[in-house]
Amino acid sequence: MTEVKAKKFLGQHFLTDEGIARRIVDSLSAGSHSVLEIGPGMGVLTKYLIDRPETDFHVIEIDRESVAYLHDHYPTLHVIEGDFLKLDLGALFSGAFTVIGNFPYNISSQILFRVFESRSHVSEVVGMFQKEVAERVAAGPGSKTYGILSVLLSAFYDIEYLFTVPESVFNPPPKVKSAVIRLRRNGVERLACDEELFVRVVKAGFNQRRKTLRNALRQLGLPLEGVADEVLAKRAEQLAVEEFVNITNAIQSCQ
Ligand code: SAH
Repeated sequence: MTEVKAKKFLGQHFLTDEGIARRIVDSLSAGSHSVLEIGPGMGVLTKYLIDRPETDFHVIEIDRESVAYLHDHYPTLHVIEGDFLKLDLGALFSGAFTVIGNFPYNISSQILFRVFESRSHVSEVVGMFQKEVAERVAAGPGSKTYGILSVLLSAFYDIEYLFTVPESVFNPPPKVKSAVIRLRRNGVERLACDEELFVRVVKAGFNQRRKTLRNALRQLGLPLEGVADEVLAKRAEQLAVEEFVNITNAIQSCQ
């Protein structure tokens, strides 16, 4: 792979607007003392994060050139060179922490699934995503963009769509608009059902989102008699977290 292609593959779109950089950093909750920045690049957010008092701050960056730049410009910064998707999030800080970043868009969903899996460690996420992904995550039931990540994340996080960012403030400009969202843990420790089965039910429901749940959930290969007919006649995109919890319990009670 040539260097240019390699960089493209890293989803590098550097933010050039200091006002927006500051606004993203200012969106952190006052109590975020442990912070991990994903993909700092040339440090446009980093330089505001580094100045926050009482902050235990790490960054993870996969691109060697960016890592060298960060070492040069911020000698005291703790830079982890590597892939966020392979990072052991439980070993990073002693307690829960915040994740921040202008994220590499090519791995947005994977970042969010990791947050979901590591919800006991990640208390907050403030980040820039491709606008469409941000909308999807923040969507509620009944919306066309409501999907797997909206349900899974909203089970454990309060999600806010903060603001939209135009293509023109990046170098190189991406093809799409961006948006900043914030996720804050909502205090739910455990769902009132088998969480593994809950995830399978949500995924199966949205896998064939145009179908009724009766058809979409068939792929689970589990008995559906315990689930009310009126629920099975609905589609996944109509259901709130609570209703997925109820379906999960109804399926489990018949096994
Ligand atoms: N935050 C910077 C850069 C954003 S571009 C800014 O706003 O200008 C996305 C950054 O994520 C790039 O620096 C890219 O090298 C880095 N990156 C891409 N994939 C990554 C991964 N898997 N783990 C860590 N960093 C990654």
